[in-house]
Amino acid sequence: MINKKTYKIVAFILLIFMLLVGLYYLASSKTFQFFGGIYPRIETNEKVVALTFDDGPSPNTDTVIAILEKLNVKATFFLTGNSMHHYFSETERIIASGHEIGNHTYSHKRLIFRSYKTIASEIEKTDSLIRKAGYKGDIHVRPPHAKKLLALPYYLEQNARKTILWDIEPESIEKISDSSDLMAQYVVEHSKNGSIILLHPMYDWGNESINAIEMIVNGLKNRGYEFKTVSELLE
Ligand SMILES: [Zn+2]
Repeated sequence: MINKKTYKIVAFILLIFMLLVGLYYLASSKTFQFFGGIYPRIETNEKVVALTFDDGPSPNTDTVIAILEKLNVKATFFLTGNSMHHYFSETERIIASGHEIGNHTYSHKRLIFRSYKTIASEIEKTDSLIRKAGYKGDIHVRPPHAKKLLALPYYLEQNARKTILWDIEPESIEKISDSSDLMAQYVVEHSKNGSIILLHPMYDWGNESINAIEMIVNGLKNRGYEFKTVSELLE
């Protein structure tokens, strides 16, 4: 028979476990955070969407810029400080092409259970590189891996910054992620007014995503959608 003490210990461990699972779900939520505004998409009656690219810049930058130029679309690039440091002229070229830049932190670590000071440094070091490269607009923030718990949302609210996530992510769906056609088809079918589309075209494995851009843009334009930057959507 289990004695009372063992029972209490088991119950306590179970409680801690449930608390951690709960916190993990909260940290991963795309629609809830403890402080400040969080936007997986924008509520609007207009047929507008935003194309967003995470991570980088990288050697793929010029290819992506050229495709957007040809399609006459402005996108929002959530860049990491570390990559901007290595690919600074690519950063300048994204800005010179008129795209929006967002802050994706310096080192792309999951910012949960980190100190306020660490978080401030991750955001501010990245902000200064974005400014140094010549960007003048508001800088919204996208947490790496979409993870945030207390200190990051608190910091962002204190500094009147917005947390921007996404609602359309074709690369995360295993059976379509190795085909640009299927990813584009998915995005065109699932996007709605105010959707924020996420792609990762900056990686070596990002070729299918790069190839999907034109099909996504043409497909959604055919359905009457206009492409906006995240800041334009927020207006
Ligand atoms: Zn990322």
